Amino acid sequence: MGLGNKTCRSVRKQGGFFISLLNESNRKMNLQQQIDELFTTQQQEWAQLRNAIDGMKNIRKKRFEWGDDFSVSVELNIGRLRSNTTKNEKSGAESPSCFLCEINRPAVQKGISFLDKYIILCNPHPILEQHITVALHSHVPQRIRKKMGEMLSLAEALPDYIVFYNGAKSGASAPDHFHFQAGKKMPMLLQGDNELRSCMMIESESKNEAVELFEEVYRFLHQPDEDEPMMNIVAFIENGKYRIHTFPRKAKRPKQYDMQGSKQLRITPGALDMAGLFTTIREEDFEKVTKQDIEDIYAQVSKQVI
Ligand SMILES: [Zn+2]
Repeated sequence: MGLGNKTCRSVRKQGGFFISLLNESNRKMNLQQQIDELFTTQQQEWAQLRNAIDGMKNIRKKRFEWGDDFSVSVELNIGRLRSNTTKNEKSGAESPSCFLCEINRPAVQKGISFLDKYIILCNPHPILEQHITVALHSHVPQRIRKKMGEMLSLAEALPDYIVFYNGAKSGASAPDHFHFQAGKKMPMLLQGDNELRSCMMIESESKNEAVELFEEVYRFLHQPDEDEPMMNIVAFIENGKYRIHTFPRKAKRPKQYDMQGSKQLRITPGALDMAGLFTTIREEDFEKVTKQDIEDIYAQVSKQVI
């Protein structure tokens, strides 16, 4: 982990050829170190990101447990408000409303190239530590089927992270522009199947085998009348194995989302919520949500599989 920093320190002592040697040290940094450096420089340059990350220190949390088997954390993250309420219009070409298209991104937002087809960006509405968005260069819809290998390559390059995918109708805030997200691992994000909600789990030492097994899961879930099965995916490396957790979905939101008055709960579950980390964006929702509400939300949005 310290290789990049050590190189930088020794370069600083030598003084001369700083720029060229720094570039050399950048090449030697692994992707996690490059992301750490991106966060450091972006927080210096970009007040919105700096404020959002500062705000995370004061996030309120509460926890529900179901025996020793399963736990859920509910967080109040007011900074997510704008991201969750972004309206996305359907369009075939680069969209003026798409915040992942290069032309629309703020000039201050810098990134790191990945596989020559994605750009890794600091997410200005973070839920996780080192929360990144990994956007394809092209403005094409969320379709994971042919991209699982790339998702696993990202997980492989980021062993301290989980990589996650929200289907277009399952929590994605940019359903028209293909992207993954990733952030630092937390134990509750690695939780698999249980009685509250379905999780189809793949584990393999071989990336190719994991991709093939995911194709089977995809075919099993796919209905002829849909572009893609409704689902969320969490992928990560654990003990040298590729892990893919697929959460099949049957609804984008629970019915409480559209209820009025005290029954209303503004929760739109995505991959993190399905794994066990719920985000609320209004204080009233955070205060009133109960263990029974969590059970009810899972029952409404998770698709049971045999
Ligand atoms: Zn776009």
